[in-house]
Amino acid sequence: MNFSPIGISLLLALLSPTLLSGSGDSRTLEDEFPPTVCIVGSGIGGSSVAHFLRNYSVYSDLDRARILMFERHEIVGGRMRTVTVSGDTFEAGGSILHPKNYHARDFVERFNLTVRLPTPIEESCALGIWDGNKFIFKTFGSSIKFPFVDKIVSWVNDLYIFVRYGFSLLRMSSFIENTVGNFLKYYESLESRPVFDNVEGMLKWSGLYNLTKLTLQEKLSEAQLSPLLVNELVTVITRINYGQSVLISGLAGAVSLAGSGGGLWSVEGGNWQMAAKLINHSDVTLHLNEQIDSISHHDEVDIQFSPAISIPKRELQHTHATFVRGLLNPGYFGIKSVSDVPVLVGTLEDPRIPFSSISILRKYSETDMTYKIFTRQPASDLLLDELFSARTETVRIDWGAYPKYHAPEVFAPFILDDHHLYYVNAFENAASTMETSAVAGENMARLIISRYRTEKSSSSSDTRSCSSGLHSDL
Ligand SMILES: Cc1cc2nc3c(=O)[nH]c(=O)nc-3n(C[C@H](O)[C@H](O)[C@H](O)COP(=O)(O)OP(=O)(O)OC[C@H]3O[C@@H](n4cnc5c(N)ncnc54)[C@H](O)[C@@H]3O)c2cc1C
Repeated sequence: MNFSPIGISLLLALLSPTLLSGSGDSRTLEDEFPPTVCIVGSGIGGSSVAHFLRNYSVYSDLDRARILMFERHEIVGGRMRTVTVSGDTFEAGGSILHPKNYHARDFVERFNLTVRLPTPIEESCALGIWDGNKFIFKTFGSSIKFPFVDKIVSWVNDLYIFVRYGFSLLRMSSFIENTVGNFLKYYESLESRPVFDNVEGMLKWSGLYNLTKLTLQEKLSEAQLSPLLVNELVTVITRINYGQSVLISGLAGAVSLAGSGGGLWSVEGGNWQMAAKLINHSDVTLHLNEQIDSISHHDEVDIQFSPAISIPKRELQHTHATFVRGLLNPGYFGIKSVSDVPVLVGTLEDPRIPFSSISILRKYSETDMTYKIFTRQPASDLLLDELFSARTETVRIDWGAYPKYHAPEVFAPFILDDHHLYYVNAFENAASTMETSAVAGENMARLIISRYRTEKSSSSSDTRSCSSGLHSDL
């Protein structure tokens, strides 16, 4: 089975020969061949599965399992990755964590990582909404707290923005709060929280499923937000966070809006360290630079799955992240002084606008800064030469960044083959964030343990089928 180029953490739990055959001499053989879990991908999804498997398998025979992890790159972390520009390090992929991203918070505390809060330049910046000809809206610097996408909710308190968008802002706020409130159910105790064997069930249980049925635009219209707010500020946010318009699903949109609020944070030195620590502390045998091209499952009836398993096609939205050290050209924006260009320039949904956003990451002096530009197409030198009056360093990264979201959304199964081939990133079509991957990873660890245990008891008693229901006590 060939995987799409990014974003896939697949698990293959290879059961021991004794379990598969159900033979009586299990002790000896199991000692010799402990169950093995293979994890494809070392991002936050795969590394969370390893972590939670180790944490929860004390309740099962999987506590002796070997965990092998295969990563096609030479480093761990997947879409959590830093970039170095002129010796300074910046997040290049997953950047910002929400204050209620409780798994990420737990990882940081558990492994003594340091929370990074915004720098003063990040706290004192302003947003401008660019329509291709002019800034149709600009905030002033004082009340804005965070860099890039990270500052938008603080504007809700800004009279200026309130005058433009009115009470729709409050309705947007309550739409976000309701979604976050439902998401928090995924942190409920293991006793009250079922193990989910499909994405739809997982979303229905938390009350989030209906958000995947309609577009964000439709959901916000239901919530009586004004078209002005949706077409301007909300569009700016979805373009920054998912490189897409307000036609993404309501759930991806709500998550995107939540990621533009206050209290946002990241990990000092790079978010990728969460994956590195999870892997290091989970007794994982890590194989770097190993790309998995096919997976075959040989069990007692010798079924070959390569390449027979099919999952719904996942189209990816590419985001080109370009990092430039230099100076923006105020003339591009019809402005005389570069200091009048907002720290974060967001854009409307108009195919004539060649970028989604530009933000200042670091200001060295009034004429020397590092910027991050998001575009849907590669940023050509021609475009960069128009946007910048000076460029001393340019770094380009082409991300197969996140799913292209649709409504109604279609989900791949968590369990791909009715045996032990699992697909963690099926959940990513709900929303793509570091935390959602961790939440999906936690559920996946429980699912593996639960199905393993059910299968094991079935093979020993020979009375239950391996798909006869999941335990909810993990
Ligand atoms: C530009 C950008 C900005 C983002 N901003 C944010 C943000 O601010 N906040 C946020 O929470 N999220 C953000 N995200 C999303 C977030 O980064 C991802 O949702 C999350 O990191 C996904 O983690 P994952 O482990 O599920 O997948 P990945 O991180 O993609 O991990 C999958 C791993 O599998 C490996 N792999 C794939 N196929 C194979 C194979 N065949 N063999 C071996 N290895 C393989 C890959 O190399 C990769 O390391 C952003 C993403 C991008 C691209």
